[in-house]
Amino acid sequence: MNRPGLVMQAAYIALGSNLNNPQRQLQQGFAALLHLPHTQLVAQSSLYRSAPVGYADQPDFVNAVAAVTTGLAPRELLDALLAIERAQGRAREIPNVLNGPRTLDLDLVLYGERVLDEPGLTVPHPRMAQRAFVIVPLAEIAPGAVVPGLGCVSDLLRGVNAGDLVMLNPVAA
Ligand code: AMP
Repeated sequence: MNRPGLVMQAAYIALGSNLNNPQRQLQQGFAALLHLPHTQLVAQSSLYRSAPVGYADQPDFVNAVAAVTTGLAPRELLDALLAIERAQGRAREIPNVLNGPRTLDLDLVLYGERVLDEPGLTVPHPRMAQRAFVIVPLAEIAPGAVVPGLGCVSDLLRGVNAGDLVMLNPVAA
């Protein structure tokens, strides 16, 4: 459902999980995005397996990216994403470890071409350009999307090591 008079923005959401059946966590995450108010899920990437970054003593992650168009403001969208994480029982098995294991992590990586740096909300997501597990699935569904200050996603693809990822379920053409 759209809000009358609201401009719809393209936004991109990165999903990641490495606990409690990660592939199912991501499928449930996509399903939850379908039900966000004033929002349409317009594309979802394949699922990719990636080795953990930072804290290595944990299972591999499964990652993907969703494209939505939304009438929600950035903060409303982020709050909705955090609510989905909580609804899927997000657990941090090792508290206070950055990049530690989690049931479902949702990051707002792009919101149109907006640049936001507020308490609790930074867009574009600050580490997206270095992360193959964000850039590769994003390039699959939105190669021409612009990351403010950095260029288009297809250019950023050249700067990450796509060989770190294994595609799990190619999307049928
Ligand atoms: P993490 O669990 O490492 O993904 O961090 C989640 C926290 O990062 C949340 O409390 C958010 O408020 C904050 N945050 C800041 N910018 C973003 C963003 N673009 N997407 C998701 N979370 C963000």
